[in-house]
Amino acid sequence: MSAVQKQTKVIIVGAGPAGAGASFFLSKYEIPNIVIDKATFPRDKVCGDACSGKTALVINRANEEWLKEILGKPADFLPSWGIKFVAPNGKDLDIPFSPNRTPETKAPGFTLPRLDFDNFLFSKMPSPFCTIYQGATISAIEKSNSDVSVKFSHQGMEHEVTAPIIIGADGDKGIVRKKFMNDSGSPKAYAVGLRAYYEGITGMHPDNFIELHFLPEMLPGYLWIFPLPHGRANVGVGILSEVVRDKKINLREQMLAAIKNNPSIAPRFANAKLIDKIQGWGLPLAMERQSLSGDNYILCGDAASLVDPFSGEGIGNALYSGMLAAMALKDAIPANDFSARNLKEKYDDVLYKRLGDEFKISATLQRLCRFPWLFNFVVNKAYKSKSLRDTISCMFTDMDLREQLSKPSFYFKILFNK
Ligand SMILES: Cc1cc2nc3c(=O)[nH]c(=O)nc-3n(C[C@H](O)[C@H](O)[C@H](O)COP(=O)(O)OP(=O)(O)OC[C@H]3O[C@@H](n4cnc5c(N)ncnc54)[C@H](O)[C@@H]3O)c2cc1C
Repeated sequence: MSAVQKQTKVIIVGAGPAGAGASFFLSKYEIPNIVIDKATFPRDKVCGDACSGKTALVINRANEEWLKEILGKPADFLPSWGIKFVAPNGKDLDIPFSPNRTPETKAPGFTLPRLDFDNFLFSKMPSPFCTIYQGATISAIEKSNSDVSVKFSHQGMEHEVTAPIIIGADGDKGIVRKKFMNDSGSPKAYAVGLRAYYEGITGMHPDNFIELHFLPEMLPGYLWIFPLPHGRANVGVGILSEVVRDKKINLREQMLAAIKNNPSIAPRFANAKLIDKIQGWGLPLAMERQSLSGDNYILCGDAASLVDPFSGEGIGNALYSGMLAAMALKDAIPANDFSARNLKEKYDDVLYKRLGDEFKISATLQRLCRFPWLFNFVVNKAYKSKSLRDTISCMFTDMDLREQLSKPSFYFKILFNK
């Protein structure tokens, strides 16, 4: 059977946040794009389900009405106003994202199951410039001197689409990265996580603070409890793969043991019910700069290892990198220049200029988390000092301030109350 042939300007593999972000902005720039996803939406994705301010920022830039829709449905997109840190010694610290909040202030973040969030993004993708194939099986990706073609089957038909550029937005273990970069990723820059959905957990913060519990046995990883709409919660653990391997940790057992026995967690689960099976997935971390593009291809989101090494945030970075890829192609398409040199300058360099410092600070913070005493020390001090709590609060929005956290002088100052 001969394949249905199509030409387009950009092929996007993957319709998660990275692919959706790229498609939104390509369509905005009136650039024809074809999106191919193996899944049929709505589809699940193992995640903590917490969307940060960066997610809101990209959605707002793509279309202000979409963010208004999100903010107007707090029952479905649960607004989150802050973060609770629990130090290895069990002491907790509530850090509001907006310490000087007024009734007009919009919540910087929100939570909802990825099944629903990704479907929301997916529902916004159709446009006269975007053609979507979901439930498609890719059989080959081939590159010639000037083009890339993707062969796939969809609803019993064979297709072949060709374009001068392909965006790999197909997540961790993506096939575009494998095809073009021929690598399997560095094990040091990888974390593994488990996700469990519960209902009936008590003691949640009235302003839906997300909770990070830095339990001694999980450092430099943590256990999270993130409130979700309709009285549910996403509970999970995320730890560096090398730590899991070296210490032979059984993540599932460790998470369930903390839920059952930890004195500050267990009572809150007394009447809680697990409502879905516990599932795991990998987090490719942005620990160090790496190549994100080459001749005729660009990688975005997890396919480009852009998960924040400290917070585990990957949704915002996936959307953001998709947006930057579209911006790079807005320049590259008229110039017909899809060379590695041009894409590095227009995409990699721009992305690292905007996010590189954030990644570096987070990588340092993640290394500091290996020292429980340091963590306990900061939380103990912040517990007693409102000004230190306010400083940490501002660190969520101010990168210059957050950088202080990674410097020895910060700890020296709080040690001597300077
Ligand atoms: C346990 C865990 C907890 C996390 N918690 C958070 C959190 O709370 N907040 C946060 O911001 N981030 C979190 N992350 C990270 C976040 O989930 C990812 O960074 C984010 O999903 C990346 O988006 P993406 O679009 O790059 O990839 P994905 O969301 O994985 O989407 C990739 C898409 O590509 C498609 N695809 C894959 N292979 C193919 C193929 N061969 N052909 C066609 N299509 C294909 C898939 O079907 C999928 O739709 C967490 C991750 C894990 C594992």
